[in-house]
Amino acid sequence: MMRAMQLDRPGAPLRMVERPLPVPGPGELLIEIAACGICRTDLHVADGDINGPLPIIPGHEIVGRVAGTGARVGVPWLGRTCGHCPYCRTARENLCDDPLFTGFTRDGGFATHCVADARFCFPIPDAYGDVEAAPLLCAGLIGWRSLKLAGEGESLGLYGFGAAAHILAQIAASQGRRVHAFTRPGDTKAQAFALSLGCASAQGSEEAPPEPLDAAIIFAPVGALVPEALRHVRKGGRVVCGGIHMSDIPAFPYADLWGERSILSVANLTRADGAEFLDIAAKVPVKTQTTTFPLDRANEALDLLRAGKIEGAAVLVPGED
Ligand SMILES: [Zn+2]
Ligand SMILES: [Zn+2]
Repeated sequence: MMRAMQLDRPGAPLRMVERPLPVPGPGELLIEIAACGICRTDLHVADGDINGPLPIIPGHEIVGRVAGTGARVGVPWLGRTCGHCPYCRTARENLCDDPLFTGFTRDGGFATHCVADARFCFPIPDAYGDVEAAPLLCAGLIGWRSLKLAGEGESLGLYGFGAAAHILAQIAASQGRRVHAFTRPGDTKAQAFALSLGCASAQGSEEAPPEPLDAAIIFAPVGALVPEALRHVRKGGRVVCGGIHMSDIPAFPYADLWGERSILSVANLTRADGAEFLDIAAKVPVKTQTTTFPLDRANEALDLLRAGKIEGAAVLVPGED
C-alpha cells in the first residue's frame, strides 16, 4: 500500500488516503519518494486557480528511488509529452498540445510512492541530499527558464522572493549580474534573506529599484506587479512572468510599453532545460534553504506558503511521519 495527501475538490484541505501501490506501465518507473518540494503551482491546484482532473495527488518536485534498482531520480512538472505535435517537433516540448503534468493531470509526489515516465525523469547531482534537491526540480528549473528568457542584462529584478527567486538569485549573482529583490511591502525578513544570498538590493514591491532594470522576472501571482515592473525596466527590457497563474493585470499607459519593452510568460519546461539547469546548479553551487514537513502536515505547509511565511522552499518528507 501507499499513502498520499489527495485533493478531492478545490478549496478543500488535502486528505490522507491509502491506496494500493500504483503499477508502472510500459516505460514507467515505480518510485519510492524521499522528498517532494511544495511549489506555488500546488497552491493554485489546491485553491482551484487552475483546474485538472480530480481527485489528484499534487506535488511535482519529487526526489526518490526507483523500486528495484535504487537509482535516485527527480520527477519534474513535465510528466510526458506527445512527441509529434508542432511544438514537440520543434524543440518546444514545454508547449506540447497533449502533455501530462505531474501532480496536476497525473498523480504527483505528496505521497510515499508514484509512477513516472522514465524519459522525463532526471538524475540528481550527487552533491545534493534528497531534501535540498527537491526545490531544484521546479522552483529552480522554471527560474532558470525564466532567466534565459529575461536575456543577458546585468541589472535584474526579481518580484516575489520565494523558492524560485532564492535559487535564481544565486545563479544570477554568480554570473556577475546585479540582482534587485522585491518582496511583499514591509517584509524585512525576506529582504534580509535576499541580501544574504548576494542580491544587490532588496525592497518592497511598491518601491523603485536603485537603478533601471534590464529585465524583471515576476514570481509572485500578482498581476499588478506587471505594470509596476514595466515602469522600472529600461528600453528594450523584458518583464517575464514566471508563474502559471496570476490575478488580472491592470490597464497601464502604452507609453510604459513603448521603447521595445516586452512582457512574456514562461510555460513549463523542456527536458533540455532540466539537464542544463541541474548541471549549472551543481557548479555554482546553488544552496537551497528548506523547511521540511511530514506528509500528514501538507495542509499546514500549504497555508504557510500561502501566507508568505516560508523562507526558501517547503519540502514534504514522507519518512518523517
Ligand atoms: Zn506534443
Ligand atoms: Zn512548480
